[in-house]
Amino acid sequence: MVLDCHIHINSRVDPPEVFARRRAEAGVAGGILFSAYPASFDNRKARPGEAKERLDQLLRCVEGQENLYPFFFIDPMEEDALEQVDRAVEAGVAGFKAICCHHYPQDDRAMEVWTHIARRGKPLLLHSGILYNDGPSADYNRPANFEHLFYIDGLRFALAHISWPWVDELIAVYGKWNYWKLEAPSTRVTAEMFVDVTPGTPPIYREEALTRLLTVGYPSLPGHILFGTDGNACYDSAHIAEIIRRDREIYRKLGISGAVQEDIFSGNLKKFLGL
Ligand SMILES: [Zn+2]
Repeated sequence: MVLDCHIHINSRVDPPEVFARRRAEAGVAGGILFSAYPASFDNRKARPGEAKERLDQLLRCVEGQENLYPFFFIDPMEEDALEQVDRAVEAGVAGFKAICCHHYPQDDRAMEVWTHIARRGKPLLLHSGILYNDGPSADYNRPANFEHLFYIDGLRFALAHISWPWVDELIAVYGKWNYWKLEAPSTRVTAEMFVDVTPGTPPIYREEALTRLLTVGYPSLPGHILFGTDGNACYDSAHIAEIIRRDREIYRKLGISGAVQEDIFSGNLKKFLGL
């Protein structure tokens, strides 16, 4: 089974039955659908009611769809972000998505919102790596910034795009999490870290990045890798199928077992979602 942990709602959205058919054509059983982008991504201030509109649109898109998990895309710097978390949880979202395009992930305000998400028992999927917004944002998205999240009680968080081009830095951060969470008797690291391997990596970097990730040797790592595509709700089946084919080919070369591949393509996502 393949679940795609990284699907966006952009400006155009296919009707649910078309979206479902296109996922099936790509060989994808479902995954995570993010709501539309918050205003800050377009260098705007949010209109009143905009967050609720984005939430309502998201819920309409997943209604009656199997294995499609709605994540509300939150900007923690919006004034009512804490209420947005509560409203989204009460409406039934499975988790939250965020892109730090105008603040550090360890900003006090953002940390307060991440903590609230953890308290509500929901996972958080964060952009990491170079970000193609219209503005400078690389500093905010270096993987090392996210080690502050290790200490948020019970938070399940994932860093997207293998943090490309900072794959080595991401692996180092993961190694630190793995050590303190699983090898040392720490009482402070309580969060759980996942790595979303959604491209970001141009094809010529893909094999190298996945090889490093899968051969570095941290015992918990294969169990914390999530497959994703950065597709959108006008799902490009042929392109998505090609991403899956390329990744499977790399895993075959690396001798990754069928069971581990199954975890990467779907099992780990269920763990991330808390299912
Ligand atoms: Zn994305």
